[in-house]
Amino acid sequence: MTDTLLLDSARHTTTPAMVCAHHHLYSALARGMPAPPRQPDTFLSVLEQIWWRLDAALDLDMIYWSAALGAAEAVMSGTTCIIDHHESPGCIEGSLDAIEAGCALVGVRVLPAYGVTDRWDNGTLREVTPATPMSDAARLGLSETENRLRAGKPTMVGVHAAFTCGDETLRAAADLAERYNVGVHIHVAEGPDDLSAGSRLAGLSRDNWLIVHAVHLQEHLRGTIVHNPRSNLNNAVGYARPARFSNPIALGTDGIGADMLDEFRLAFVAAKSSDLSTDPTTVWSWLQHAQELFPASRKDTVRWSYDHMDSPWHLAFSTGVHVRDVHIGGKAVVVDGEPVSFDLQEIRSKAAEQAARLHARL
Ligand SMILES: [Zn+2]
Repeated sequence: MTDTLLLDSARHTTTPAMVCAHHHLYSALARGMPAPPRQPDTFLSVLEQIWWRLDAALDLDMIYWSAALGAAEAVMSGTTCIIDHHESPGCIEGSLDAIEAGCALVGVRVLPAYGVTDRWDNGTLREVTPATPMSDAARLGLSETENRLRAGKPTMVGVHAAFTCGDETLRAAADLAERYNVGVHIHVAEGPDDLSAGSRLAGLSRDNWLIVHAVHLQEHLRGTIVHNPRSNLNNAVGYARPARFSNPIALGTDGIGADMLDEFRLAFVAAKSSDLSTDPTTVWSWLQHAQELFPASRKDTVRWSYDHMDSPWHLAFSTGVHVRDVHIGGKAVVVDGEPVSFDLQEIRSKAAEQAARLHARL
């Protein structure tokens, strides 16, 4: 045993577990959804045609099993900690507890947020301006958040995005976060529809905020910039050029799984396509900063199928690195690439039932 450990330490196969700094676990059920009524041709129409129809149809069973499936896929990729951003305007109460319970089935740690928005008015979408008063749904989302904060449950204050919230809601979210000394987790300037986010949030942001995407952000906001290169490519919103910011930077997936090694490789090549002098060590530091955002990740370890896990220069150019073992808080969860503490087949099959229910509603 000692020899194996010595060999492992010499071969650098083991790392602390990965953290996904921005996820939407419910999107585990989006795969295979029916085509939208209209082919989206702008970022806003992607939101309207796909995500805002999907999130409005979620119920607690769907939320629970999507979280379980997303957590299972995360841990099989070496990610044990997820910072989740959730929206289910038709099912707000209990939604964050359902996510936490779904992740607990797998053993994955989660820091959820409910993304409040004023774009819903009695179940229908409406135009929002800075002067739009707080909607009932936003009020309910903030109270769902505060209930968890008051109970001492790990939670951030979530906001969908400035362009779907009035100033009253943005201020209330910032105030709630300040009172409980947690950050706000918010999409910022992901697409051109949210260009005013920087000026509207400038007086509100704090160092513990998560500023997600920042593709079109020109102003300085306080907080960690969370970069999601695969999602940005997928939505044709442009390259965020995260290295231009003086803020700390972390990597997320925006709901497309939680394979952070894969996201690192993509983040590296995306950065390099914009600046040939990009050093993979810089991009690796974005993964490490995500780990700092979720300190419990240091209690979790991953053993990989590769000898150079201490070398960003190796990893940037090595595809097909697999997870061998995952320990969460010392407990074996994955051994030799197989789950040992949860039933992956059962989770897949329950999630498939919920996906069928969800798709039938669309
Ligand atoms: Zn997102």
